[in-house]
Amino acid sequence: MDTALNLVNVTLEYPDGDGTLKALDRVSLALGAGEFLALVGPSGSGKSSLLAVAAALIRPTSGVVTVDGQEATGLRDAGLTALRREKVGIIFQQPNLLPSLTAVDQLILADHLRGKPLAAARRRAAELLEMVGLAPVRNKRPHQLSGGQRQRVNVARALMGRPAVLLVDEPTAALDHERSGEIVRLLREVTDEFSVATVMVTHDTEFVPLTDAVATMRDGRISARQPSGSAPARASS
Ligand code: ADP
Ligand code: MG
Repeated sequence: MDTALNLVNVTLEYPDGDGTLKALDRVSLALGAGEFLALVGPSGSGKSSLLAVAAALIRPTSGVVTVDGQEATGLRDAGLTALRREKVGIIFQQPNLLPSLTAVDQLILADHLRGKPLAAARRRAAELLEMVGLAPVRNKRPHQLSGGQRQRVNVARALMGRPAVLLVDEPTAALDHERSGEIVRLLREVTDEFSVATVMVTHDTEFVPLTDAVATMRDGRISARQPSGSAPARASS
């Protein structure tokens, strides 16, 4: 299987008083296209730090990060930005939508910022809103949408650039139980449909069976991933 995301021996240190704090301690992780990994672990264990280095938002202190065959570590800032824009979709807990834009315009803007032609952006936005079940509310602004609908806009927007890797940090933390299940099922669906490699940080172990595998973080170290249980067997990377 193609490895869409590959972290090898990644260490990330932050200055901490006189010393340093290892947010990531020799973390290795490989994820293939179409694989959905749940990342669990206590608060402060390094989950968001792992997503940040995988997203090429920050450079690790050491180790190698490869996204869709391109090595991120070693790129200059402009290269990192381009890699992030072209290959990574990011979904945080809070959707971060622009208050004045309609759902469809949130998506079109994302492509505009990538320099994509407007007609293609409109088509892609319409398709994605249809897929996430938001076609009927495409012209509504964020305050006219429910929390679950806003998070669906966020998912659709993250897919506009046809990312190889989708990084999702606690997507259900602000949602009730039913909406949370809907979002995780949607992430499963888009992972399959677009063959994206998805890493989802979650507290909700209940939804782990919808993923392919689960890895646990503790003190910056990652455990070997385990099959999540009920998902169909997939080729491992
Ligand atoms: P999690 O997402 O699992 O809660 P984080 O990746 O946010 O964990 O944090 C891992 C460790 O790194 C924690 O000890 C946290 O305090 C520290 N940390 C995170 N971001 C920074 C930062 N920007 N500067 C200094 N320390 C940080
Ligand atoms: Mg976190």
